[in-house]
Amino acid sequence: MRAVRLAQVGKPLEQADIPTPEIGSSDVLIRVAAAGICHSDAHSRTGISKIDSLPVTLGHEVAGRVEKVGAQVANLAAGDRVCVHYLVTCGRCDFCKRGKEQFCRQAQMIGKHRDGGYAEFIKVPVANAFPLPDEIPFEAGAIMMCSSATALHALNKARFKAGESIAIFGFGGLGFSALQLARAFDCGDVYVVEINPAKLASAASMGAVAINARAADPVEQIKDATAGRGVDVALELIGSAKTMRQAVLCLGPLGRAALVGLTAESMSIFPYTELINKEAEIIGVSDHLATEVPALLEFARSGKLRFPPETLRVVDLDAAQINAALDALQDSIDHVRTVIVPRV
Ligand SMILES: [Zn+2]
Ligand SMILES: [Zn+2]
Repeated sequence: MRAVRLAQVGKPLEQADIPTPEIGSSDVLIRVAAAGICHSDAHSRTGISKIDSLPVTLGHEVAGRVEKVGAQVANLAAGDRVCVHYLVTCGRCDFCKRGKEQFCRQAQMIGKHRDGGYAEFIKVPVANAFPLPDEIPFEAGAIMMCSSATALHALNKARFKAGESIAIFGFGGLGFSALQLARAFDCGDVYVVEINPAKLASAASMGAVAINARAADPVEQIKDATAGRGVDVALELIGSAKTMRQAVLCLGPLGRAALVGLTAESMSIFPYTELINKEAEIIGVSDHLATEVPALLEFARSGKLRFPPETLRVVDLDAAQINAALDALQDSIDHVRTVIVPRV
């Protein structure tokens, strides 16, 4: 089968012809219909995120049709539409049993620790394949399993409830999903903090209050807009100590700041006035859980989570096209997502 693989860190991905994977009794073989190209794939290629064993087929945002199932697989059959939960875990350890499988010590990420979706076929354990409703296009089914799933996990970790107000720092792929999901939760006012004018306009057109962080201190702007109270929940999706601190400062009493963006910087907080006094919480968010996937799919099936055609760009399963898309991703500022659709 055709595949596009990382053979050497810091080098372009390579076109390869490799054997179609052999499946085990509890695996499914999926014919890839769409594979999202993600920032973390760019990080794997440059070596910012370490990969132990090369070559590997990248791609952790995958949807397609079941080609073949293992002998013990009863809930899926050839021809079924599916999307893939990208963390393969043992299913037996304490964390797996509690449904917190992102902490499984044996966890392997698809497209990093094992071959991913930049290929004609992918093999995954049946536990990682979720039926994809007909209403959801393959392209959306692929990309929602990364940024949208993480946005949903962030809202869940922040215990976000109907009627609550929310501030979203950063309006890239995560923010685009977070805004739609917050509305699907029946939220109160939504504030989107950005510096990019196009993204601010896009957030406003989707019903959010656009907060231009270049115009004035975003915390002051949010406090003004909420009559001094602050918001119930803030999501930090950028990964900077400055915006993380702002996410905490814009909280009202009992507010929760969920930090999703990655940074190695340290952040300072005045515990009494900024946290203790208002019983605010700072919550770390990492990945997402298999148990959250059905709700996510239902939001997409019912049209509450959408990826309009103008937000998607399609390339072929071709190393040159994929490398170019990864190059563009490294300095992109729009939230158009590139999806690989292998030509048949
Ligand atoms: Zn991703
Ligand atoms: Zn486990």
